[in-house]
Amino acid sequence: MNIKDQLYQKIPDNLKNLVDLAYNLWWSYQPDARELFQNLDPPLWFSTGSGYTRHNPVYMLRNITPKRLEKMSNSKKFMKRYEKVMNHYNSEIMANNDLWWNTEFPKHLDKIIAYLSMEYGLHGSLPIYSGGLGVLAGDHIKEASDLGIPIVAVGFLYQEGYFDQRISASRNGWQEELFREHDFNDLPIQEVLDPKTNTPLIVSVNFKDEMDVNVKVWRVDVGRVPLYLLDSNIEENVPWYRDLTDRLYGGGSELRLQQEIILGYCSVRLLDKLGINPTIYHLNEGHCSFSSIERIRKLITDENMEFKDALEVIRHSTLFTTHTPVPAGHDVFDFGLINAYFNESMQTLGKDNFCSLGAYDFGHGGGGFNMTALGLRTSLYHNAVARLHRETSDEMFKPLFSELKSKYSESYNPLEYVTNGTHVPSFVGRPNQELFSLINENWIKNHDDPMFWKNNYDSHTLTDYHIWEYHKRCKTRLFRLIRETARKNRQNGLWDTELALVNGALLDPDVLTIGFARRFATYKRANLIFTDLDRLKRIVNDPYHPVQFIFAGKAHPRDDAGKHIIQQIYNYARNPELGYRIAFLENYDLIIAKLMLQGCDVWLNNPVRPNEASGTSGMKASMNFLPNFSILDGWWPEAHQEDQNGWAINSENITYPHRGAQDWNDAKSIYDLLETKIIPLYYDFEPGEIPFNWIQVMRQAHLSVLPQFSARRMLKDYSNKLYVKLMEK
Ligand SMILES: *Cc1c(COP(=O)(O)O)cnc(C)c1O
Repeated sequence: MNIKDQLYQKIPDNLKNLVDLAYNLWWSYQPDARELFQNLDPPLWFSTGSGYTRHNPVYMLRNITPKRLEKMSNSKKFMKRYEKVMNHYNSEIMANNDLWWNTEFPKHLDKIIAYLSMEYGLHGSLPIYSGGLGVLAGDHIKEASDLGIPIVAVGFLYQEGYFDQRISASRNGWQEELFREHDFNDLPIQEVLDPKTNTPLIVSVNFKDEMDVNVKVWRVDVGRVPLYLLDSNIEENVPWYRDLTDRLYGGGSELRLQQEIILGYCSVRLLDKLGINPTIYHLNEGHCSFSSIERIRKLITDENMEFKDALEVIRHSTLFTTHTPVPAGHDVFDFGLINAYFNESMQTLGKDNFCSLGAYDFGHGGGGFNMTALGLRTSLYHNAVARLHRETSDEMFKPLFSELKSKYSESYNPLEYVTNGTHVPSFVGRPNQELFSLINENWIKNHDDPMFWKNNYDSHTLTDYHIWEYHKRCKTRLFRLIRETARKNRQNGLWDTELALVNGALLDPDVLTIGFARRFATYKRANLIFTDLDRLKRIVNDPYHPVQFIFAGKAHPRDDAGKHIIQQIYNYARNPELGYRIAFLENYDLIIAKLMLQGCDVWLNNPVRPNEASGTSGMKASMNFLPNFSILDGWWPEAHQEDQNGWAINSENITYPHRGAQDWNDAKSIYDLLETKIIPLYYDFEPGEIPFNWIQVMRQAHLSVLPQFSARRMLKDYSNKLYVKLMEK
């Protein structure tokens, strides 16, 4: 019997729907549903707050005692809560009225959009993401569900996922990666059955004319959106195929190619087997571009079409989104490898046709079969993820766009942009959600409307005292995480005094706290503030107006340069000369991200411009009233209002030919702004009062960012600018 059925048997009749709730990640972004699980058994809930179980209702229902269940099913108070949450769930997930999509586009009720992505960041308990791209994909489908946009999503279920990060004291702060096999029984996933045979559904793809790779399929429900996850770890496969889906971004170029073949081909074959016939394929980054090849191949084989007609049919039903402004970030495969793997498809499409779809050369040895080029050539519409990113991508693929322009002339579509946004119910902290609800219960419903916020959240209804008090609550939650981590490490014998200092045990909640957390890719320059160490020492050690910095983030297992930066920060954090005002939190993930994005005072971002496609963490920060302090890269030029909602580092975008000079001058700008603007403003208050002028900036950060950079605005843009246009072609 599968786990879900076992749980149905275990849970008392009057609480049975808890099982459905546990298997729909909707619970994770609904405060009332989270509280319901928390109340079911608080100690058990909190015990799942760490490790990969991460507040995991499936794990919880599996482990809760029958006695406790019995007790709660007899509690009037609990049952009342339960009914309320289940009504909420049914009205949002089951009912079809009132959905934005249905009201807006009644002509398109029967359409389906297939959304493909290599990773999805949905919740800490489902470890199938590594960073920003995955979280964006997760936010995309959550918001699609909220708006009733008919999306079906496909990705991977990794046996090990991405890694857990440990910083080793004995190795002087070197990052160690722990890969853990996840127990699928604890995940909110269900085996997908073949509708024809009612046995587990298997889809296959062929590599190199050798044995087929077989993939089984799991389903996760994200609100109204089904997310299908591919998994090659099944008995039907030869052993060396079983670990193809072990890890996200795990191997070298060939493993990456194999994974991308599985994603591209199997997602199309899966939807076919399920009888789902998408009107549009939305490809999230080049990893899934092979789906276009498979769709063309199918038209040629099944419908007897010519290659060029098949290509046009596919183009007219495909949207491609690019996320990478640097050549090295795009997947490019050797033609030798492509030749070896695609024998059958190449014969069907014609070798020249096949190769010409992906051929692209960035120069400097960056030529080959380029997955972004494939995505661009097989899509009628394509978009970048911020205004500046569009300029950069346009330039990077200039020859390709000229090629498309001369080929299609009138009907050619230039690269567009839809600036990223983030899912508001997922990233606004619980204290701030309470605050908004106090002032207007309908805030979620109206959250992408700037006028709603202006009208409801002026300084009379939402006072400075409110904002400051709730911000302090968020800050307390972050500091509790820091303290509890240190406490647990000691209890578990992982004690090293210096490690506790590095983890922030001496940080002070009353001090101006600057947060920096994201992947430790070198272009993000996590160590930039240490450029002029003497100046930084003066800043952090100021006896009256000190500053502290909290860092978190993982370096890719094969990125030694990124690991060196972590090691550097580790050593600054334990250096007495910096006063223990620098901290590094281990194992950055969605849970740590949320607490930092809600509980720091300022959010710092200093990438090398223009290498950041969009960046989203700064949006999440400002939704929680944190001002941004950032290079004018990615999304920030679209939001930035100097001194009003944050600050721009190197505001004139002066570029230097040498990276050293760039770093030095960008760092200088950081120190100047800290010393002349940020620190004085933060500490500008009378004893016993609160910093009114600072709160003005917090207020504007929130007002100018939350509606405009919400995933709701993003999904409405995708729908209006791209999905519906494609549907009407
Ligand atoms: C938002 C988010 C990111 C992206 O951060 P950037 O600053 O945009 O790079 C990465 N990881 C997690 C867990 C996130 O929540």
